[in-house]
Amino acid sequence: MAPDTKERAPAAEVAHMLQNAFIAALEPTHLWIEDESAQHAGHPEARRGGRHVHVRIVSAQFTGKSLVERHRMVYQAVAAHIGREIHAMRVQASSPLEWAPNASDFCTCLLCSRG
Ligand SMILES: [Zn+2]
Repeated sequence: MAPDTKERAPAAEVAHMLQNAFIAALEPTHLWIEDESAQHAGHPEARRGGRHVHVRIVSAQFTGKSLVERHRMVYQAVAAHIGREIHAMRVQASSPLEWAPNASDFCTCLLCSRG
């Protein structure tokens, strides 16, 4: 897994890695991972290798949890990659009930659109 950090890991590879980690730890029902590195191209840290990502996660594990607790859970799930492949992560974490008002039969998230 991208042992040479001089070369930034491809966005698709990083997204796939995060997806697997989130599925294992949080059992999400919906998941979006968006690479925002291009928006931060001027940052010195960005040039060193870490990517900026925006993740949206819907999981029953967030039910009854505060925003702080949810963010902690999300960061813990990918802790091994923070400061390495990931430089910064923007997080939106919702429980299924919070998400339900926006749900539709046609979801384009990583989980619903695969296969
Ligand atoms: Zn979905």
